[in-house]
Parts: sequence; C-alpha cells; structure tokens
Amino acid sequence: MAGTVEAPRVYRMPLIRPTIQGRRASVRAPMHALIAALLLAAPPEHDFSKVEIQTSKVAGSVWFLKGAGGNIAASVGEDGVAIIDDQFAPLSPKIHAALAKLSAKPVRFLINTHWHFDHTGGNALFSDPAAILAHENVRKRLIAGGNIFGMEIKPAPPPALPVVTFRDGLSLWWNGEEIRALAPGRGHTDGDLVVWFTKSNVVHFGDDFVTYGFPFVDLQSGGSVKGMIAALDVVLGQVPADAKVIPGHGEVSTIADVRKFRGALDEMVGVVKKGLAGGKSVEQLQKEHALAPWEPAWGGKDKFISAEAFIATIAQDLAAKK
Ligand SMILES: [Zn+2]
Repeated sequence: MAGTVEAPRVYRMPLIRPTIQGRRASVRAPMHALIAALLLAAPPEHDFSKVEIQTSKVAGSVWFLKGAGGNIAASVGEDGVAIIDDQFAPLSPKIHAALAKLSAKPVRFLINTHWHFDHTGGNALFSDPAAILAHENVRKRLIAGGNIFGMEIKPAPPPALPVVTFRDGLSLWWNGEEIRALAPGRGHTDGDLVVWFTKSNVVHFGDDFVTYGFPFVDLQSGGSVKGMIAALDVVLGQVPADAKVIPGHGEVSTIADVRKFRGALDEMVGVVKKGLAGGKSVEQLQKEHALAPWEPAWGGKDKFISAEAFIATIAQDLAAKK
C-alpha cells in the first residue's frame, strides 16, 4: 500500500504569499521556511532524512514521540499499540521503527487530533493494520482538501481517511485503561480532539494547547480563539489537576501550564475586544502593540505567529457571527 500512496502534500508547498484568514500575515520570513522551521519543527528544505524520533516515557502506558510536526503519543502494552497523530509521511518508517522498539505488536489504532498535515501526514502508511479514528470534520476536511495558512492542501487519498468518525467523543478501551477522545468543540479547528489516557493520567491536547508562542488558530478550518478558550475549559473541567500534558507542539507540560495558557488567551481576547469597542482599528491595535505584555514570551521574530497576526485573528474571530 505504501507504494501507491502519493508523495506527502508537504513536499508541494507552493510559494504563495502568506495570508492569515485573508489578511497578509505580519511575518518576517518566507512562509514556507517559517512553517517548516517553526510550526512544524521540520528541518530546512524539507529534509526529513536528518530527523530523529526521540522516544520518552510519560506515565503508565503512555510514551511521547518527538520528531518533526505534531507530537505523537503512544499507548503501549498487552493489547498492542495505539497512537495519537503521525506527523509527516516521510517519517513513517522511522516512527514505525521507534514504536517497534517499544512493542513487537502492531499499531492497531490511530487517533487524529485534527486534520492538519503535520499531524495526519502519515495516515495512509499506518492505515494497514491501524484503524484511524477522528472527529467527523477531520474526515470531511481531508476529503475536501483546502487551504492551511496560505498553503493549498490536496484532497487526501482514501487510505489516509479515518474509518471511524464521531462528533461527541469516543472511548477506546486499550491496554487496561479507558482512552477518552474528548471533542470539546471548536478551537484550533472545528475537528479537534483532546485525548485523555485516564489511568496513565496523561492528556494529549492536540493543537488546542501548544508552547511555541501565540497559537495558530485556523479560522478557515472552523477554528475560533473564543472557542479554544471554551474548549480548554471543557477539558480542564474533566481531567485531573496532576495529569501530565502532551501539547500539540512542544515539551511535556502540566495542567498548570494549560491553565496559564488559557488565562493568557482570555486576557488577550479581552484587550482586543476592549480596543475595538473603544473605536480602534485592528491596524491601530497592531501599531500600539496591544499584546505587548505577552510579546516577550509569546512573540518575537523567531516565532511562527506574530503579535500583529494574532491580533488580526482575534479581531476576526470576535467579528464572526457564530
Ligand atoms: Zn494544527
């Protein structure tokens, strides 16, 4: 099957002008390099040959695999292997090899936290024998293709599509625990899942929680900043305070880190809302550095999303009807 799968879409990143939700992004480097280097933590010039998969135990049955792209969680035990997200197709052999060191058993389940290609790129290469599980909007968006941060994404081939979809979450009983895929609502996209390993006490947040700075909220894929705050509240209301956290991108974190992130998002939305209500334009808020208190930690020219771009995203989200 691997031989029939099309080359991953990431190789075809077109050099088009970056826009965020129709606006020109306030970024300072060519978007393809920026995306490769920062959001996806991919190597320069899309050279995946140098990427190594680092494996570490998180807790209980759960392992953390870091390579390039979204973080992978793996449940490893008696029943076999189940993974959350799969990065890029060219890394699939390395991911398979890293998992083979943890278990002789195959990957039987793969859960996608959302449809972005740095989390689903390897889908087709895991789909035999793994069953792919995802929010129904992930399947819809993979079939349709679309646009992510100015990049045209081609429709995914059938083997890359989830075979089990749902709207309100699902429980996978595996390796002696209930693995709950929570669907907390619109956030990073409209198909986000947060996966809670209830006994191991680990939560993979997908891109509803990231540690790279101002978060990318994909409004074009149905995401919402206000929604992300509400989604985090849904999850934080359910998971234990001492759970270990795997962010969509970044290192293993704590629930306290997620609360801090949620609080900062809420304050930033408040600042932009107040500014707009006071008659200021988005451009004024950008020029005035309305998000200055967060810029030292969250922004900077080495960051994927600038403060200006995030102000524009918040403003557009506030103006949206739903
Ligand atoms: Zn994403």
